[in-house]
Amino acid sequence: MLQASARTALCASRRTLASLPHKVYKVPGDDLPVISSDESQVAIGWDPRTWSRFHHIWLRDHCRCPLCFHPTTKQRLLNTFEVPRDIKPVSVESKLDGLTVTWPSSQPHTSFYPWSWLRRNSYDPVHKQEQNRDHEQILWGSKIAQSPPTIAYKEVMHDDLGLYKWLSNIHRFGFSFVTGVPPTPEKTQELAERIGFIRETQYGGFWDFTSDLAKGDTAYTTLALGAHTDTTYYTDPCGLQLFHLLSHTGGAGGASLLVDGFYVASILKELNPDAYKLLSTIPVPAHAAGEPSALYQPSPVHGYPVLSHEARTGLLSQVRWNNDDRSVMSHLDPHEVEAWYDAIRAWHQCLTSPDSEYWVQLQAGTAVVIDNHRVLHGRSSFTGARRMCGAYVGVDEFRSKLATLGDKYSPDDVLLATNNLSDAVHNDRNIWNAAL
Ligand SMILES: [Zn+2]
Repeated sequence: MLQASARTALCASRRTLASLPHKVYKVPGDDLPVISSDESQVAIGWDPRTWSRFHHIWLRDHCRCPLCFHPTTKQRLLNTFEVPRDIKPVSVESKLDGLTVTWPSSQPHTSFYPWSWLRRNSYDPVHKQEQNRDHEQILWGSKIAQSPPTIAYKEVMHDDLGLYKWLSNIHRFGFSFVTGVPPTPEKTQELAERIGFIRETQYGGFWDFTSDLAKGDTAYTTLALGAHTDTTYYTDPCGLQLFHLLSHTGGAGGASLLVDGFYVASILKELNPDAYKLLSTIPVPAHAAGEPSALYQPSPVHGYPVLSHEARTGLLSQVRWNNDDRSVMSHLDPHEVEAWYDAIRAWHQCLTSPDSEYWVQLQAGTAVVIDNHRVLHGRSSFTGARRMCGAYVGVDEFRSKLATLGDKYSPDDVLLATNNLSDAVHNDRNIWNAAL
């Protein structure tokens, strides 16, 4: 399927380039892309079989000169709405480092776009991006027990490279252990704050609790908890959760359960695509109502599907599942009721399959961080007294830290190609960074 469409795109590209009523400004040597321009677009031939086209208005809007884009704040200065909708370059030139476009205006205005940046941002057609190995997500089942992602506390606290390795683990696997953590709330809090601000909730900021039902939630009991994600009753559920067992005395049990929601979803999609579709489309309302002073429910009030996908790519982006916190399903179409219950039963079966469940007995000194948008957690019941501490960290703080450290320790091809260009790096950040 993919191959067929790639072939079609290739034929189309040849046809289009040949039939465009374009004017070739310059045909440089073999090593430089060939460029041409027509009434509304600039075409770039990367090689005889690969090309991109950019609209004039798009190029003008994306000018990164210091008059159009603040090099320090990385914010647009150009007034997009003053650009004539039919703007056309006076000239386009293929230079060693990139495309240069001169625009008509009272004072001549020249824009420059590095080749690597143009390829990365090609939208006509979209170019398949090389996947950076550090950014690949790895789905896992119970066999992860043989070698779970782990990093030493010393390494995380020592320098940014250690922190980057930890955050990369969380990104790739959806969780990571940290070993050798001093078993105190203070040191655990410092560890959480390496990632970013702690997210305050109705359970407090950094929490430190025992099984005394101090808060009206089953987390504060000795009951077994099935695999779930936290805060399904928020409009934006907490991103990361860190927890650390400080002590367990006078009893037994309380093993921790981790399940990769993305892995389970991939199995369900294979086995039961109809169930997958219902879980991806029917919203599930949820509530937190154990405290008399608080009543949480998401907005919109019917909540979100168990499986959320990125609108443009269709990739699974978030799992929300806590059957205990689910509210009344009064919004189901009568014809969907039985099918929906069948779908969550199928989901539950995949979630609780021995192939999916990773059970681990946590010890004081080993903290774990979970991506609460992907990995579900639970525990077996226990006796005795357990003291746990931990915190939530927002998903945006996590992604921001991962992005800044990734640019430093694992720069992508655009950064590698442009970091040495003059005027590219201001205030420690490259203006051609793919995130901008
Ligand atoms: Zn400009």
